[in-house]
Parts: sequence; C-alpha cells; structure tokens
Amino acid sequence: MIPTDAALATRPEACSACNAPLDALGRCTKCGAVFGEAYRCPLCHALSDVEPSTTLYYRCRTCGGPRIPPTESPVSEAEAVLLRSARSEQLRAGAFQAGSGFAVASGVLSLVITSVVLMVTTPAPFAKFAALLASLIPFALSLFAWRRAKSHRTALRSALQQAWFLAASRVAASAEGGQMSAEALAKALKIEQTRAELLLAEVSLQDFVQAPAELAARMRVTELAEPGELTTAAQATEADAAANVSTRKP
Ligand SMILES: [Zn+2]
Ligand SMILES: [Zn+2]
Repeated sequence: MIPTDAALATRPEACSACNAPLDALGRCTKCGAVFGEAYRCPLCHALSDVEPSTTLYYRCRTCGGPRIPPTESPVSEAEAVLLRSARSEQLRAGAFQAGSGFAVASGVLSLVITSVVLMVTTPAPFAKFAALLASLIPFALSLFAWRRAKSHRTALRSALQQAWFLAASRVAASAEGGQMSAEALAKALKIEQTRAELLLAEVSLQDFVQAPAELAARMRVTELAEPGELTTAAQATEADAAANVSTRKP
C-alpha cells in the first residue's frame, strides 16, 4: 500500500498512548506503538509492528505472516504478491505438518491396539498379516503429509527469497547515486550484514544481466537478421577460418 500525502497527514504528531515523539516511519520512540502507514501489513492490512522469526526472517505481530521491515519506500505490489503467496505456503505447510503428526500418533495407537488384540486372540496367519498391514496405513499417510509439508516449505522459502530480493533492489535503487553499502542495506532492512552482502550481490548480478548495452545490441542484430544472411555470414567465417588454417600449413 502506497502511503499517500493524505495518509501521512492523518498520522499523529505524537504517540497517543504515551505522548512520546514518533520516529520518521511513525513508530513511538518510547513504547514502540506504531502509527505510520509504513507499518501497514500487506497481508492483514493492520497497522502492526514486525518481529524477528526464525523461518520467515520477519513476521507480522498481528497475523504472524511474513513481512519485510518497514523502510522509507513502501513495499511494492510485486513484493506484496510474493509475501501473500509465502503466507499461503506457510499455512499449507503448517496444516500438512500437523496432519503428519496426527497420523503418526493414530498409527502408533492403532499398532498398539492391533498388537494387544493379536496377543489375546489366535487369528489365522493371513488375518494377522492383514491386521498389521492395516495398522501401518496411518504411517503411509503421515509420510505423504510430511512430504507435502516439505514441498510447501520449499515454495515458502523461494517466495520469501524473491520478496527479499525485490525489497533489496527497491531499497538499493532509492540510495543516493544508486550505490548502497551492505551496512546501509543491513540497517535499512534490519538484517545481518552477511545476508545484506548476499542480497546486494544478487541485485548487482541482476543489474549486470539487464544492463550491458553492447550485449543487448548484439542480440538485437541476431534477432533481426534474416536467417539466410546469418547462414551466409557463418559460412564466410568458416571459409576464413579454413583459409587461415591452410595458410598456416607449411
Ligand atoms: Zn508511545
Ligand atoms: Zn499482518
């Protein structure tokens, strides 16, 4: 959500809870209450602070979804889309994880009951085998759910990486002269410097892939040239090479 002038205008001058002054982004310097639009969660739309999380880097204090810490520039729509998809992967991974745990528990219970029943009765060997096999079904279900949880966690991580990459590009682009140090990025996004360095490396790699004018021009020539011309050019190059080889021969 882009903070408009109107939104900034409605922001109070001081904290309504403790009357202490607010910082540039609208967070109370004393009690930590948030008032600025920069703190608007793109997932639950509440004005809410972020807190560190081991799996999500940062999460919303209100909805628990993944967040990018507020910066001078607002979270872009692309970042918000990625955060939303990370959030749905997070919820799915959690559901399958819980399902997997529940299936293991019921599997253990059914195995115990089956064993007790088999101990006190003397069924035919085939019936015994079938009963044991049936009690293993929950374990198979648990394995299935565990694997689904794992694949959703992978999708969650990949969406988060992309969201953070976009956030790093946005913050780096807003730096004076387009150059940003890892320290500055680490401070702006509240991350460790080693992670900031990695993100900056990714951003500059992306810039490099998009930027080189020379390479782009060459690609355009190849795209626009007639296939016939290209073949002729290739043949000419080959002939030149052959001529070079033959002249080099003693
Ligand atoms: Zn306050
Ligand atoms: Zn939220």
